[in-house]
Amino acid sequence: MDEVQVPLTEPAVAKYTLNEEQERKEIIRHYRALLKSLRPKLKKGDKELVRQAFEMAAEAHKTMRRKSGEPYIIHPIAVAMICVEEIGLGVRSTICALLHDTVEDTDITLEDVEREFGIEIAKIVDGLTKISSVIDTNTSQQAENFKKILLTLTDDPRVILIKLADRLHNMRTLDSMKREKQLKIASETVWVYAPLAHRMGLCNIKTELEDLSMKYLEPDAYKDIARKLAETKRERTRYINEFIRPIKEKMIAGHFDFEIYGRPKSIHSIWNKIKKKSVAFEEVYDLFAIRVILNSPPEKEKEDCWKVYSMITDEYSPSPERLRDWLSNPKSNGYEALHTTVMGPQGKWVEVQIRTKRMNEIAEKGLAAHYKYKEGSADEDRFDKWFGQIREVLSAQDTDGVDFLQDFKTSFLAEEIYVYTPKGEVKMLPTGSTALDFAFSIHSAIGTKCIGAKVHHKLVPIGHKLRSGDQVEIITSNKQKPSEDWLNLVVTAKAKSKIKDSLREEKRKIAEDGKYTLQRKLESMGAAFSQYNIEELVQFYKLPSSLELHYRIATKSIDLKELKDFQVLGDKIEIPKPKPTTIETPPAYDPNKAGSKKDSELIIFGESSDKIMYNLAKCCNPIPGDDVFGFVSTGKGLIIHRTSCPNAAQLMANYGHRVVKTKWAKNKEISFLTGLRIIGLDDVGVINKITNVISGDLKINISGLSIDSREGLFEGTIKVFVHDKEELEELVTRLKSLDGIQTVDRFDTEN
Ligand code: MN
Repeated sequence: MDEVQVPLTEPAVAKYTLNEEQERKEIIRHYRALLKSLRPKLKKGDKELVRQAFEMAAEAHKTMRRKSGEPYIIHPIAVAMICVEEIGLGVRSTICALLHDTVEDTDITLEDVEREFGIEIAKIVDGLTKISSVIDTNTSQQAENFKKILLTLTDDPRVILIKLADRLHNMRTLDSMKREKQLKIASETVWVYAPLAHRMGLCNIKTELEDLSMKYLEPDAYKDIARKLAETKRERTRYINEFIRPIKEKMIAGHFDFEIYGRPKSIHSIWNKIKKKSVAFEEVYDLFAIRVILNSPPEKEKEDCWKVYSMITDEYSPSPERLRDWLSNPKSNGYEALHTTVMGPQGKWVEVQIRTKRMNEIAEKGLAAHYKYKEGSADEDRFDKWFGQIREVLSAQDTDGVDFLQDFKTSFLAEEIYVYTPKGEVKMLPTGSTALDFAFSIHSAIGTKCIGAKVHHKLVPIGHKLRSGDQVEIITSNKQKPSEDWLNLVVTAKAKSKIKDSLREEKRKIAEDGKYTLQRKLESMGAAFSQYNIEELVQFYKLPSSLELHYRIATKSIDLKELKDFQVLGDKIEIPKPKPTTIETPPAYDPNKAGSKKDSELIIFGESSDKIMYNLAKCCNPIPGDDVFGFVSTGKGLIIHRTSCPNAAQLMANYGHRVVKTKWAKNKEISFLTGLRIIGLDDVGVINKITNVISGDLKINISGLSIDSREGLFEGTIKVFVHDKEELEELVTRLKSLDGIQTVDRFDTEN
């Protein structure tokens, strides 16, 4: 369910002040209005059925209220009203709309619905119940859910239409919800329901859903555009009248039965234009469109539309690229019209939409309205045929799935992106995913060997952030292997865990060498390479495992020369007492040298990395994001350990006064983003050379890369994460030394 229901007794709802009698009258008033709308469609016995559904729902929701305090039954009545008035649905849909929340939220069961209203209605109500649980349970799975919804569509499209009506009413009454709930519902709406409404040809509902979502998601932008639209209304009206006058005269002279008016575009679409073209409100030229609605008989529709087109373009000259003929080829959602953009008075471009009344009805209410006109009846058989057509479009989903997603993608605000394999297979990844994430999503063996990727045939580094619609080809090399910095290049859990697995595997391999070194050392001392001796050493060095011991011996962070002081008894080594420790006992803390604020317990490093010297402890190798603390030592500055470091407890217990609280800077990067502009001679391998220096040799993360080449010259901009100035300077020097590079300059990045 979308609504949070509260029992009648809850005091929080006291703002609704009508008494019971007034409430009852209010409910009846809503119900009568519904019946009135439905009247033209009522056949014998229908009225009784609708009444029965209303009474069943009213009784079931009797003790419930909406967040606004209204009796709950107002909601299903309003949803039914939207179905009838705004989507053009009939009696059966009305019954389903009235019952749509009963099975989920009340004691009424599906069996009850089936017993009273039959299997057809029970199935739709069941579909409505399933959908809400599909949509609401897991927001991160929304894309997947969208597909599932579409599959339920093949059962009965009325499920979707009623669900859209439900969502529209919830959006219209979203004010009383908590802010976080508003945000969740609004983003789901713009993400799933608005494109769905578009797909079903419900232009008005789509527009209203988008505008309402924007009102909650981008309240400032929404208010700003709404205010500017209101402020410019007079001026716009004057212009529209001036534009319309000569056309109107011609059409009257031509004996057309018509309406002509100017209509502002939706706030959401204006906002999209402002964003997409990065222009100011004042520069958006199509703030409105002129609409001509003709009352033409079916056989003359097309001819009349073109006649009007001809009259308009006699008056104002059209832009040839902006003619859209959806008369001959209606859109897949049923939309039919003729659109043109002409040069109006004062040299302004104006969009004109020409359509007939029938076409307008379809544009507003979707195809459901269509059959009113054919053979003059709202016969429900006709509906079935229409649903059959939609079903057909959707069952062909495999073939035009990409187109469908493309449509859908334009409304994509959410947490996931769609990317494609070279063969056109779709992969869903979280926003922010990189080429490397994509590689791991295909197969971990491809991930670990990934050296780069091609996005739309352009070479990009492994850390390149993907966008919806990208087609990605992964480039692998058998020489490649994961390194720790890869953990910063991925966002998916799968890639992270595979990289960690692989790093662990790598460590195990290195440890093998250390194990061998240790074996020789022990044997040369006359001690055995035994479980006992290894454990003694692990204890002695305070390590978590023998693997760690072997690894450190291999990487020379443990020096086996220390073992010369050990006694050997039999074949066992004797640890000297008192036990020395590998942990340094640092001299007195010198705040000046350490460079930290002496009265501050909290050091945030990463934000001002040039101010504080620090080193990452070798014993636990912290990485950004780990829980860490700093240990102050002179000489080495601040040493960052993981709180889970095997040495942590000992350090904190014995040298508590030198332990400083430390955390990673906000973005979990001990680095800052900077940009470089590179100009040089275009050459096949240039991107490779550059990315090799950056991510290969210097292991610097690339956050963005774009290369433009023209007439043998290229200009590239690269955004990189560097730790400090020295690193940046080294990078610049290295890049400048590459063949063909002319200049490398630093520029500031905005984000
Ligand atoms: Mn509902």
